[in-house]
Amino acid sequence: MTSYAKPEAGAKKLGLVIDLDTCVGCHACAVNCKEWNASGHAAPLTDFEPYARDATGVWFNRIHSFEVDDGAEGRMVHFPKSCLHCEEPACVEVCPTGASYKRSEDGIVLVDEDLCIGCKLCSWACPYGAREFDADVGVMKKCTLCIDRIYNEHLEAEERVPACVSTCPASARHFGDLGDPNSDVAKLVAERGGYGLMPELGYKPVNRYLPPRPKKSSGCSGSAREALEPTIDDAKLHPVLRWLDRVLSR
Ligand code: SF4
Ligand code: SF4
Repeated sequence: MTSYAKPEAGAKKLGLVIDLDTCVGCHACAVNCKEWNASGHAAPLTDFEPYARDATGVWFNRIHSFEVDDGAEGRMVHFPKSCLHCEEPACVEVCPTGASYKRSEDGIVLVDEDLCIGCKLCSWACPYGAREFDADVGVMKKCTLCIDRIYNEHLEAEERVPACVSTCPASARHFGDLGDPNSDVAKLVAERGGYGLMPELGYKPVNRYLPPRPKKSSGCSGSAREALEPTIDDAKLHPVLRWLDRVLSR
């Protein structure tokens, strides 16, 4: 077990806000994440059989695409998934060596590779599947929110954002302090009803998802409502996010 200081009220909570309405599933964020992190703080990000049909490798950001409903109500939802930098991270609590830790100054959850023994307990504990084991090096890795970009004074100020945010052609990704109610990201979340994944688990993920807007042609049909049937008791939740909760809970 690794203990950590729970964030105090008003503490900085750096994180991502991802817009499920505008994400087009192009994978540019995942590719730029890989490109940056394959040579930075978390390098290397090993690939195995990269040109084979069953290629595998370490990717901190993965995009999952789902078809929701069909016919006139049908839509694709592209769901980028990476570490959510939970306020009370299960991955940190279970780490037997203290390799997984949460920074008090900005809330970023990191792995100290020198302390990691590759036991994979953190990846079992993370309910979001956000940990990535590098079998070549024998240590666990994960999204660092590009810690070697966001504080990098050698970069222009506008480039000091995570690589995924800097590259998204749809401007579907936003970065900032979700602990500050006056930050642009906090205002965006408030305006669009942004949501943390699976809040019922109690890990308090910092990242937020903005729900898809209703289709202009019609509201949600009866069959769409059936397909998006909620599994948690939160009537205010957008139907697509209730459905995402169900998919992630499988
Ligand atoms: Fe840990 Fe998973 Fe939460 Fe990231 S999403 S902080 S890896 S429990
Ligand atoms: Fe979605 Fe932007 Fe990532 Fe493309 S780069 S998959 S649009 S979040």
